[in-house]
Amino acid sequence: MSHNEAPIPLAFPDITDAEVDAVAAVMRSGRLSLGPRLGAFEQACAERAGRQYGVAVNSGTSGMHLCVKALGIGAGDEVVTTPFTFIATPNCVLFENARPVFADIDPETYNVDPGALDDAITNRTKALLPVEVFGNPAHFDEYERIANRRNLAMIEDCCEALGATLAGRPAGSFGDCGIFAFYPNKQITTGEGGMIVTDREDIRDLAVSLRNQGRATEAWLSHARLGYNYRLSDLSCALGEVQMSRLDDILAKRRRVAGLYDEALADLEAVRLPPMADRAKASWFVYVIRLADDFTRPDRDAIIQDLRGRGIGSSNYFVPCHTQPYMQERLGTREGDFPVTERIAARTLALPFFGGMTESQVGRVREALGEAIDARR
Ligand SMILES: *Cc1c(COP(=O)(O)O)cnc(C)c1O
Repeated sequence: MSHNEAPIPLAFPDITDAEVDAVAAVMRSGRLSLGPRLGAFEQACAERAGRQYGVAVNSGTSGMHLCVKALGIGAGDEVVTTPFTFIATPNCVLFENARPVFADIDPETYNVDPGALDDAITNRTKALLPVEVFGNPAHFDEYERIANRRNLAMIEDCCEALGATLAGRPAGSFGDCGIFAFYPNKQITTGEGGMIVTDREDIRDLAVSLRNQGRATEAWLSHARLGYNYRLSDLSCALGEVQMSRLDDILAKRRRVAGLYDEALADLEAVRLPPMADRAKASWFVYVIRLADDFTRPDRDAIIQDLRGRGIGSSNYFVPCHTQPYMQERLGTREGDFPVTERIAARTLALPFFGGMTESQVGRVREALGEAIDARR
């Protein structure tokens, strides 16, 4: 393996001249925020999620925060979620002084285990907040049934799952509301950005007001409630609108790369492929493999460092939320609480993954990974 080959990044956005032109047109228009691209981008995302309304915001995190607020979740309330997620998920519950309650994951899907989710519900539970980990829609119909049966609200953290479907239903269509995210490593990007999707007019109206300094009308200096500046600029919306128009193409390219990896890694005995049951209906956000149980966390970390040393992007995914020091301090959680999550989180790593990856790049990653694994045997 040559060390002077070009590095392969972990992620890379899929931007064409059409996106560049659309952003330039907004710049020339003089209308850089709250302009015509906002509604168009919202409409495109709502349609894709099979929802009535979209509310664009400046990040997935702010979108999720507004959903928590719009559902009236606050001090004394509990929200059941997964510890195997990006930290923004439980943080949005803590922003409102409510308590994230974790339930362990299903080792076959990496999404929260429906039985564990049900068991974690108490009389203080106000909502469920499950996550489509790595773009896998598994169990979302079951979570929705639990929410309905237990008379709870449900927020779908579909930040990693734009374009996925489960039994014909799109990601973003489960529960009361969902949130997509558009950081540059996501399937589509707006630079920074997020999108709430919902059929509930009350959630839509409150989110529109809260993202815009609590304004209730167009009157610029009239504020009906304590709000935020979570607006998404028209530059970002124009970028997102073109990305959405290309979504099927973008997802197909990513699925192709996932297929190349599936094939290239099939003979690596130490490696378990990403857990999507239906590889065509998942939305490929990252390509995360899992090492066999006889590998330790230090083994995994060394393999990541080894890959990076060869110019190949790699990262662990995720650190279990309940083991972050401030979470332990606030919630009283500790290592050992969620053994399935911990066993998997210690052995997962993301490989370079983006739609433009070539077969030869996948081959280079395969070769480097094989050598890195052998070096830890
Ligand atoms: C990306 C992501 C978010 C939101 O991220 P932002 O960076 O705030 O846009 C939330 N939850 C999950 C699971 C994510 O992957």
